[in-house]
Amino acid sequence: MLVIHMERGCKSLEVARVCGFLERKGCSLRVVGSFESPYIVSDGDEEVGNLILSLQGVKAVTPTKKPFPLASRETFPDDNVFNITEEIKIGGGNRLIMAGPCSVESRSQIIETAKGVKCSGANVLRGGAFKPRTNPYSFQGLGSEGIALMVEAKKETGLPIVTEIMSPEDLEWLEPHVDILQIGSRNMMNFSLLKAVGRTRKPVLLKRGMMATVDEWLQAAEYILAGGNHKVILCERGIRSFDKSTRNTLDLSVVPLIKTLSHLPIIVDPSHGTGRKELIKPMSMAAIAAGADGLMIEVHPRPHEALSDGAQSLTLEEFQDLMDSVNKLCNALNEEVKTPCGLRIAM
Ligand code: PEP
Ligand code: MN
Repeated sequence: MLVIHMERGCKSLEVARVCGFLERKGCSLRVVGSFESPYIVSDGDEEVGNLILSLQGVKAVTPTKKPFPLASRETFPDDNVFNITEEIKIGGGNRLIMAGPCSVESRSQIIETAKGVKCSGANVLRGGAFKPRTNPYSFQGLGSEGIALMVEAKKETGLPIVTEIMSPEDLEWLEPHVDILQIGSRNMMNFSLLKAVGRTRKPVLLKRGMMATVDEWLQAAEYILAGGNHKVILCERGIRSFDKSTRNTLDLSVVPLIKTLSHLPIIVDPSHGTGRKELIKPMSMAAIAAGADGLMIEVHPRPHEALSDGAQSLTLEEFQDLMDSVNKLCNALNEEVKTPCGLRIAM
């Protein structure tokens, strides 16, 4: 595969010339991104790449054998750092702590949780409104009403929000309201959904499929990048294994592995990854120590009343305790968790 990096501000005629050249050589091609600074992905070989280098408007050509050329670190050696809001970034040492309930259940529940997690130093509020439940009779989420409550919680606290999108049809109305679109584990290979979020310019949190290999996961990310959206955050949330003593097997080795393979930021969700409250703090610490760019933690003011995933949800007090430890660790690593208002978390 080749990734052809065009000059910023190059002319559309120059892009067309490269495309014409590739076509004459019988190579596939796909133009990605805006015409000010596009990339062209092609199945041409190194010899074709060398010839293309001499064409006008071409800045660089990266050959790669990886099936995820745009997600690969070979193509983009620097960490992909991008903004979630004007103040909050992820990647390159900027960590995101996303916390909140599994499901949005009521106004009071989401506002109380949002205020609590913000106070403890979370910088993104999570909450599911469209829930991908295994059983059709389980609580399916509040749908658009849940999104309206998330928006209220955002107004109340200033925390940006992340929520799962299950269907491409919801994208148009949902996109303006949310700060990060979550693709759940069960939808990691829903290619219509991946293509749809690839067309937006909103950050996308792409959870690892529960049976997905790293190659499959990065190719799912490639769908979004190939659509022109470079703001992809990977999220390790555990994979299925033979051992039922935890809900899933949290694969923390994937954090440093992804760092070598890809420039994309990666966060860890130890809540779904272990399904066990007592394991969430130690696994959060391990994830940060392994180099994760953040965490996603399920928090509920009264976990025993939760309509989904209560057994793995931390109370607000337990989340504060987790953040105290995470901050001590970040300080030991000579860094800090950046809060929305830029405050350093009190120790
Ligand atoms: C979630 O985060 O709400 C969720 C359903 O997680 P996953 O897709 O990882 O199961
Ligand atoms: Mn959950």
